[in-house]
Amino acid sequence: MAADHASELQSILDKQRKAFTASRPESLDVRRDRIKRAIALLVDHGDALCDAMSEDFGSRSRQQSMMTDIVGTINLGKYCLKHLDGWAKPEKRKLQFPLSLLGAKAQLRFEPKGVIGILSPWNFPVNLSIGPLMQVLAAGNRSMIKPSEFTERTSDLTKELVEKYFSEDEVAVCTGGPEVAHAFSSLPFDHLVFTGSTATGRKVMEAAARNLVPVTLELGGKSPVVLGRSANFEQAGERIAMGKMMNAGQICLAPDYMYVPEEREEGAIAAVELGVRNMYPTLLENDDYASVVTDRHFDRLQGLVADARDKGAEVIEINPADEDFSNTNARKMPLTILRNVTDDMQAMQEEIFGPVLPVKTYKSVGEAIDYVNANDRPLGLYYFGDDAGEREEVLTRTISGGVTVNDVLFHVSMEDLPFGGVGPSGIGSYHGPEGFREFSHARSVYTQSKRDIAGIAGFKPPYGKKTDKAIASQLKK
Ligand code: NAD
Repeated sequence: MAADHASELQSILDKQRKAFTASRPESLDVRRDRIKRAIALLVDHGDALCDAMSEDFGSRSRQQSMMTDIVGTINLGKYCLKHLDGWAKPEKRKLQFPLSLLGAKAQLRFEPKGVIGILSPWNFPVNLSIGPLMQVLAAGNRSMIKPSEFTERTSDLTKELVEKYFSEDEVAVCTGGPEVAHAFSSLPFDHLVFTGSTATGRKVMEAAARNLVPVTLELGGKSPVVLGRSANFEQAGERIAMGKMMNAGQICLAPDYMYVPEEREEGAIAAVELGVRNMYPTLLENDDYASVVTDRHFDRLQGLVADARDKGAEVIEINPADEDFSNTNARKMPLTILRNVTDDMQAMQEEIFGPVLPVKTYKSVGEAIDYVNANDRPLGLYYFGDDAGEREEVLTRTISGGVTVNDVLFHVSMEDLPFGGVGPSGIGSYHGPEGFREFSHARSVYTQSKRDIAGIAGFKPPYGKKTDKAIASQLKK
């Protein structure tokens, strides 16, 4: 069975690589046409894809899906169309004196890598598969996509649509579970983009390493919120609630835990609670509020809360309409705030990825900085406050993939900013011009002068006094 997967996938890869090689050089118009087809796929079938996502989740707002998965991805495609000419232009590079006077030239060309694999997760199933595809195509590559098995309907529909808008040797979707995923990550791609958990990312990188396939890893982690004393608490509370409740916290960049001044802990929690109540007056029948994706994920989140409670945390459920969550199959879970958390609790050890928000307190903001630095470098970091000195202290003394100041999540939606993690939260990035470069090979091209450069410089054998003089002049401090 496993061998079947591998040979089937390998044959698609062979087909794509053969077509890639045969069609080079391709004009930028060919790339533009592919991006336009990917945009058309989303425009024409956005509604159907949103229906599939709602069914896969059990409940997920169509408007949210439209914003995060359809429109957000279309915008990345449009951004690529707008900037493609500029990105693809070869760059003239400087030469050591006096080579340019002697007629030599140096240039950097951005060339396609070939066939790029995209392995995507379930939480934003369209955005995280077709999103990277936009920049993969902009850079002139072909692509094979393996979407998540947890959002099966969306993955099947994506496959059907991609078959309609692309030939198999341009873009192909390969569906299946972990076995297919493993075979997929073992293919000798020219580059592999993986979005998912840190644990799976490690396996993907190991499999890719066997073929020396370069990787972009978009992983997860515990993204902290640091609430400064100068913050507007009410506004911060609403923004944190909005970021944490969107997709029921199932966002790689969701605020994972909150660090607040100790004397204002209650005010901070009250502000988040008010935000939840205003935006989500009810939860169970409210389509704006997503379900947790599967029973397994739901049980894990319940387990995190139970473990924290057992180890002494205070558990505060924000249940605006006092609904009974005990007898439902909807996998909906109210935002659950954990106070008095300690490092031995699972909620402080693993990425939460759901509507659970631990709160830690500090006397001085330096404690929050030390805590962030003592743990894995997070994907995102959020600072709220108007104190520029404190903001810079937090930013310059910590490291994270990206930052949003005075809100959460927003940096990922800025098309011109690269998005990615650092270390355990990821390797490489896309979005922005950096995404185009990530999926291109920067090829150095040096054109030699007609003059005898080595002879003039003294580097041509037989070595002698001229060589010694040239070396000595370069050893000068
Ligand atoms: P996951 O790691 O379980 O799965 C992601 C993909 O990997 C799926 O397509 C799956 O089939 C595949 N996979 C599973 N086992 C594999 C294996 N052994 N080898 C190769 N591939 C394998 O992640 P998930 O649960 O779908 O998504 C949630 C995680 O993704 C969270 O940790 C979240 O933070 C992260 N995430 C990161 C970003 C980002 O942009 N940085 C975005 C969304 C989600």
